[in-house]
Amino acid sequence: MLSIAHGSTGAFIASKIPNPYISLPLILASHFLEDSIPHWDVGQGLTSRKKCKRAAFLQELFFDFPLSILVVYLLFQVGRPFDWRPWFGWFISLVPDFLEFPYLFLENRSVIIKKFAAFHRWSHRSTPNKFWGLLPQVLVLLLIMLVK
Ligand SMILES: [Zn+2]
Repeated sequence: MLSIAHGSTGAFIASKIPNPYISLPLILASHFLEDSIPHWDVGQGLTSRKKCKRAAFLQELFFDFPLSILVVYLLFQVGRPFDWRPWFGWFISLVPDFLEFPYLFLENRSVIIKKFAAFHRWSHRSTPNKFWGLLPQVLVLLLIMLVK
Protein backbone atom coordinates (compact mmCIF):
# COMPACT_ATOMS: atom_id res chain seq x y z
CA MET A 1 0.00 0.00 0.00
CA LEU A 2 0.95 3.62 -0.09
CA SER A 3 3.13 4.92 2.72
CA ILE A 4 0.15 7.12 3.61
CA ALA A 5 -1.90 4.03 4.57
CA HIS A 6 0.98 2.09 6.16
CA GLY A 7 2.24 5.10 8.12
CA SER A 8 -1.20 6.04 9.42
CA THR A 9 -1.89 2.44 10.47
CA GLY A 10 1.44 2.23 12.27
CA ALA A 11 0.85 5.58 13.98
CA PHE A 12 -2.62 4.44 15.04
CA ILE A 13 -1.40 1.14 16.51
CA ALA A 14 1.52 2.78 18.34
CA SER A 15 -0.68 5.51 19.77
CA LYS A 16 -3.25 2.98 21.04
CA ILE A 17 -0.77 0.34 22.28
CA PRO A 18 2.06 2.11 24.11
CA ASN A 19 4.02 -1.09 24.86
CA PRO A 20 6.47 -1.40 21.92
CA TYR A 21 6.96 -5.15 22.56
CA ILE A 22 3.31 -5.56 21.56
CA SER A 23 2.87 -2.69 19.10
CA LEU A 24 6.04 -3.32 17.08
CA PRO A 25 5.15 -6.84 15.88
CA LEU A 26 1.55 -5.72 15.29
CA ILE A 27 2.73 -2.79 13.19
CA LEU A 28 5.01 -5.02 11.10
CA ALA A 29 2.20 -7.56 10.69
CA SER A 30 -0.16 -4.77 9.62
CA HIS A 31 2.25 -3.83 6.83
CA PHE A 32 2.17 -7.30 5.28
CA LEU A 33 -1.57 -7.66 5.92
CA GLU A 34 -2.27 -4.36 4.15
CA ASP A 35 0.08 -5.28 1.31
CA SER A 36 -1.86 -8.54 0.84
CA ILE A 37 -5.03 -6.57 -0.02
CA PRO A 38 -5.03 -5.86 -3.77
CA HIS A 39 -4.00 -2.22 -4.01
CA TRP A 40 -2.39 0.40 -6.19
CA ASP A 41 0.73 2.23 -5.10
CA VAL A 42 3.41 4.35 -6.67
CA GLY A 43 6.07 1.95 -5.51
CA GLN A 44 4.61 -1.01 -7.34
CA GLY A 45 6.80 -0.12 -10.28
CA LEU A 46 9.77 -0.78 -8.07
CA THR A 47 9.04 -4.44 -7.75
CA SER A 48 6.89 -5.15 -10.81
CA ARG A 49 9.46 -3.60 -13.17
CA LYS A 50 6.58 -2.40 -15.36
CA LYS A 51 7.58 1.15 -14.55
CA CYS A 52 11.03 2.69 -14.53
CA LYS A 53 12.52 2.10 -11.09
CA ARG A 54 13.79 5.69 -10.96
CA ALA A 55 10.37 7.22 -11.80
CA ALA A 56 8.61 5.06 -9.22
CA PHE A 57 11.24 5.90 -6.62
CA LEU A 58 10.92 9.64 -7.31
CA GLN A 59 7.13 9.45 -7.02
CA GLU A 60 7.53 7.63 -3.73
CA LEU A 61 10.12 10.11 -2.48
CA PHE A 62 8.32 13.32 -3.46
CA PHE A 63 4.64 12.32 -3.24
CA ASP A 64 3.78 9.35 -1.06
CA PHE A 65 6.51 9.60 1.59
CA PRO A 66 6.08 13.32 2.45
CA LEU A 67 2.28 12.96 2.35
CA SER A 68 2.51 10.09 4.85
CA ILE A 69 4.34 12.45 7.24
CA LEU A 70 1.71 15.15 6.68
CA VAL A 71 -1.23 12.75 7.22
CA VAL A 72 0.29 11.36 10.45
CA TYR A 73 0.89 14.93 11.63
CA LEU A 74 -2.70 15.97 10.83
CA LEU A 75 -4.26 12.85 12.36
CA PHE A 76 -2.13 12.47 15.47
CA GLN A 77 -0.34 15.73 16.32
CA VAL A 78 -2.46 18.77 15.44
CA GLY A 79 -3.67 20.42 18.62
CA ARG A 80 -1.75 18.00 20.83
CA PRO A 81 1.64 18.09 22.55
CA PHE A 82 4.41 16.25 20.70
CA ASP A 83 4.02 12.49 21.08
CA TRP A 84 6.79 10.18 19.84
CA ARG A 85 4.54 7.12 19.58
CA PRO A 86 2.75 7.97 16.30
CA TRP A 87 6.13 8.73 14.73
CA PHE A 88 7.59 5.48 16.05
CA GLY A 89 4.60 3.66 14.55
CA TRP A 90 4.95 5.56 11.28
CA PHE A 91 8.64 4.61 11.02
CA ILE A 92 8.20 0.94 11.96
CA SER A 93 5.30 0.57 9.52
CA LEU A 94 7.58 1.66 6.68
CA VAL A 95 10.61 -0.46 7.65
CA PRO A 96 9.60 -3.34 5.31
CA ASP A 97 9.59 -0.91 2.39
CA PHE A 98 12.86 0.70 3.53
CA LEU A 99 14.43 -2.77 3.55
CA GLU A 100 13.59 -3.13 -0.15
CA PHE A 101 15.99 -0.28 -0.92
CA PRO A 102 19.29 -2.22 -0.74
CA TYR A 103 17.78 -5.02 -2.84
CA LEU A 104 16.40 -2.72 -5.53
CA PHE A 105 19.01 0.01 -5.75
CA LEU A 106 22.25 -1.21 -4.23
CA GLU A 107 22.17 -4.63 -5.88
CA ASN A 108 22.48 -6.12 -2.41
CA ARG A 109 21.64 -9.76 -2.86
CA SER A 110 22.69 -11.08 0.55
CA VAL A 111 20.72 -14.12 1.70
CA ILE A 112 18.76 -12.20 4.35
CA ILE A 113 17.86 -9.31 2.02
CA LYS A 114 16.89 -11.76 -0.75
CA LYS A 115 14.68 -13.81 1.57
CA PHE A 116 13.05 -10.69 2.94
CA ALA A 117 12.42 -9.28 -0.55
CA ALA A 118 10.93 -12.62 -1.65
CA PHE A 119 8.60 -12.67 1.37
CA HIS A 120 7.61 -9.04 0.78
CA ARG A 121 6.88 -9.76 -2.88
CA TRP A 122 4.95 -12.92 -1.92
CA SER A 123 2.68 -10.95 0.46
CA HIS A 124 2.19 -8.10 -2.02
CA ARG A 125 -0.97 -7.94 -4.17
CA SER A 126 -1.14 -5.08 -6.64
CA THR A 127 -3.76 -3.90 -9.06
CA PRO A 128 -3.19 -1.40 -11.86
CA ASN A 129 -6.78 -0.17 -11.41
CA LYS A 130 -6.40 3.06 -9.46
CA PHE A 131 -10.03 3.21 -8.26
CA TRP A 132 -10.15 -0.32 -6.82
CA GLY A 133 -6.53 -0.05 -5.77
CA LEU A 134 -6.96 3.19 -3.86
CA LEU A 135 -10.39 2.38 -2.35
CA PRO A 136 -9.09 0.03 0.39
CA GLN A 137 -6.49 2.62 1.33
CA VAL A 138 -9.09 5.38 1.58
CA LEU A 139 -11.18 3.02 3.74
CA VAL A 140 -8.18 2.38 6.02
CA LEU A 141 -7.70 6.13 6.47
CA LEU A 142 -11.43 6.70 7.11
CA LEU A 143 -11.50 3.88 9.67
CA ILE A 144 -8.49 5.33 11.48
CA MET A 145 -10.12 8.78 11.47
CA LEU A 146 -13.32 7.31 12.92
CA VAL A 147 -11.80 5.24 15.74
CA LYS A 148 -8.61 7.15 16.69
ZN1 LIG B 1 5.27 -3.17 1.49
